[in-house]
Amino acid sequence: MMKKCDILLKNGTLLTPELEIKEGISVAISGGRIAEVREEKVLDGQYDAKETIDASGKLIMPGLVDSHVHACQYMLRGKLADEYPMVWTRILVPFESTLNEQDSYLSGQLTYLQQIKSGITTCNESGGNHMHMVVKAAEESGIRANIARSTMDQGAFIPDSWRETAEEAIERTEELYKNCNNLGNGRIKIWFAMRQVMSCSPKLLRMIGEKASEYNTGIHAHLCEHRDEVSYCLQNYRKRPVEVLYDYGILGKNFLGAHNVVLTDADIELLAKCDAKLCHCPRANLGNHGVPRTPTILHAGLSIGIGSDGASGCNMDFFEELRILRFALQAVLGLPIFDPTIIPIKALLKMLIKGGARAALMEKEIGEISAGMRADVILLDIEQPHIMPNSNLINVLVEGVRASDVTDSIIDGRLIMRNREVLTMDEKKIIADGKQRMKEIFARAGI
Ligand SMILES: [Zn+2]
Repeated sequence: MMKKCDILLKNGTLLTPELEIKEGISVAISGGRIAEVREEKVLDGQYDAKETIDASGKLIMPGLVDSHVHACQYMLRGKLADEYPMVWTRILVPFESTLNEQDSYLSGQLTYLQQIKSGITTCNESGGNHMHMVVKAAEESGIRANIARSTMDQGAFIPDSWRETAEEAIERTEELYKNCNNLGNGRIKIWFAMRQVMSCSPKLLRMIGEKASEYNTGIHAHLCEHRDEVSYCLQNYRKRPVEVLYDYGILGKNFLGAHNVVLTDADIELLAKCDAKLCHCPRANLGNHGVPRTPTILHAGLSIGIGSDGASGCNMDFFEELRILRFALQAVLGLPIFDPTIIPIKALLKMLIKGGARAALMEKEIGEISAGMRADVILLDIEQPHIMPNSNLINVLVEGVRASDVTDSIIDGRLIMRNREVLTMDEKKIIADGKQRMKEIFARAGI
């Protein structure tokens, strides 16, 4: 008797959970989960599928996680290059604080459109204002998203329209949680956010830690991104940022810290002890803050995901992010000690896939193509001159593959992109709306 399934991917090349390549594999998807992963010759003729996709010439791999993104900065694309400091006070704050509900909705649509076309199936949003509208865009797009609301109750450069008390900041996140958590068949989760330690009072820090435990949800923060942050903590707390967060009850297994460039050995040890989750944003880090101590962090047993830090200075190509990180680590850490394998290809891929799943607090649900896991799956066209022929496809995934090689995307068992056409969104309209609205926002923000 034929078994039923929603989607059958037939006869593709599989990236296995062990990060190896297996050819001639078919994958059955049913009820939002991966039902069976077997050789095509075994599965052939066994399934009555609602939708069958010929995966020959395609790589079947887990959907990618953008571990740290700012949807609300999307329409700053092209605006930040070659600018002198302080970009935060001169551009980011006037821009972000002028965004209204519709701007935020469109920023979300633009972000998720680009993410889906880049193979991203889950993202961790670090937060802005009007996040219920960003949630609406995420829910409609079909992407999986952990969305936070940016919270700040102190800091010299914050405009009055942004400033809120610790109680207000928490109340507004709780409201977002109550209205939006688990929307989209559970794809949307609401997290708490600590924008960064400099813009949160001790009281707010403590409340974020307590509330995230109470709601059993994540905390998204910028952590040890730059030297000013460390200097601020040393001056004000006589401790480094990681110790400060530990003291206020924020560090734990539900904590995600983005960037992590300026970490000491003791910081790394404490983060590992707390089972905190980390992510690097290679391009953003290199341009502004330097090269992270990735090998030491991994050696301590911590996981690292990869984040875009938003689209304002990045094309959201996560294969390229891996290449950039690899070259940076080789040049800065590897060469001086003559270690050409300072960061092996598989370690980079593991960061992107498993590190991403951990950064999304979903390591048991996503990040591998095997039976029982959630069906977040992408297909890549590997029959192209920049990929084939090769003697090691795993290496070429980092050395040569591009985001635009992703042809199809399945999220939560639902086909969201087919042959590079996003089925849930009107791409032409969203881009046209973005072009128009971008000008209006700049005029309003006076930048
Ligand atoms: Zn960021």
